[in-house]
Amino acid sequence: MVMQTRAEVSLESLADPLVPFVDVTAEYLRHKSAIDTAVGKVLAHGDFILGQAVGEFERAFARYIGTDHAVGVDSGFSALELIVRGMGIGPGDEVITQANTFVATVAAIEASGARPVLVDVDPETSHMDPQAFEAAITANTRAVIPVHLYGAPCDMGRIGAIARRHDLRVIEDACQAHGSRQSGRRAGSLGDAAAFSFYPSKNLGAAGDAGMIVTSDPELAERVRLLRNLGSAVKYEHEIRGFNRRMDTMHAALLLAKLPHLDSANASRRATARLLSSGLAELPISIPRERNGDEHVFHLYVIETDRREALQNRLTAAGISHGIHYPIPIHLQQAYRSLGYERGDFPVSESKAHRILSLPIFPHMDDVVVYRVIAAVRAFFEGR
Ligand SMILES: *Cc1c(COP(=O)(O)O)cnc(C)c1O
Repeated sequence: MVMQTRAEVSLESLADPLVPFVDVTAEYLRHKSAIDTAVGKVLAHGDFILGQAVGEFERAFARYIGTDHAVGVDSGFSALELIVRGMGIGPGDEVITQANTFVATVAAIEASGARPVLVDVDPETSHMDPQAFEAAITANTRAVIPVHLYGAPCDMGRIGAIARRHDLRVIEDACQAHGSRQSGRRAGSLGDAAAFSFYPSKNLGAAGDAGMIVTSDPELAERVRLLRNLGSAVKYEHEIRGFNRRMDTMHAALLLAKLPHLDSANASRRATARLLSSGLAELPISIPRERNGDEHVFHLYVIETDRREALQNRLTAAGISHGIHYPIPIHLQQAYRSLGYERGDFPVSESKAHRILSLPIFPHMDDVVVYRVIAAVRAFFEGR
């Protein structure tokens, strides 16, 4: 440790500490002994590839979500790609998703060989606009991927009804929505299959990359189980061509130790969101809403303002971390120019990209810290 002068020490203690955007090490420390024991057991046992904890975590996660099957993979991206492939969707087929999502949703569709078709979102929810979805359906459309963006479930009743009318499969991108509910049912059990990511900062996070496929379709479960393991169920026998997309046993053990605490972590996020929303009410911004019958798990707390850049500068000066999810809609990304879309094609997504701002939120965020965030945002809009 570097020696500090007295002046530095006193300045240090005067300054408010930085408010982080997320705090993944705090999560570890809260459950340290359970996680250390679980990971230590794997290290001692040595079953690193498709070991015992993988099956245990798959069964526990399927039970938690309310599906018959869960198949552990190496990322949310792989979960999405293998679901699409497992449904027999590929070259010549179209899969519809929304223009404002994390790029992995679209990258996974392309990796399967299918063509991603983008649609705009509802201005209120930032979720796929069901009417836009229906309008984008062609003779080649095979599936739709609604994204439960920010942690609130999409309107699965309307999306599911449209999909059934047109004989399309429904794949939930639940990578931001671990534990969220619609009419009492968990996100992940509301379509034909769902993809979860355990990227470290997600509501349930690993110590690295991991993901999960959930479904109650036994044939699809069987197929993705083969696809993730080079097409093999019996060592050195390969029924189909596959990939190496397995979940590590170490990650499964760690996630199994954390799963029992997911609901209380989400309840804590919801309490923080309530505090933020009451503190930010009446300001000229839009704040997240929870639709009737939904349970939002606030992976992100996203506000919208016309004065984003000035507010960002103010938060930075006050030591408050923040983010933008996402600053560039998919159709305006350099990598996706070849999809053939233009500026103006998805006006709601484009306008949101300039207005959205994610405030810090994570489980067990100290109320004092939440009030600091509220005070900084209020002071900005009240011209102080
Ligand atoms: C995190 C995320 C993914 C993919 O996650 P990885 O595990 O990083 O591959 C996909 N879709 C959305 C909406 C996400 O937030």
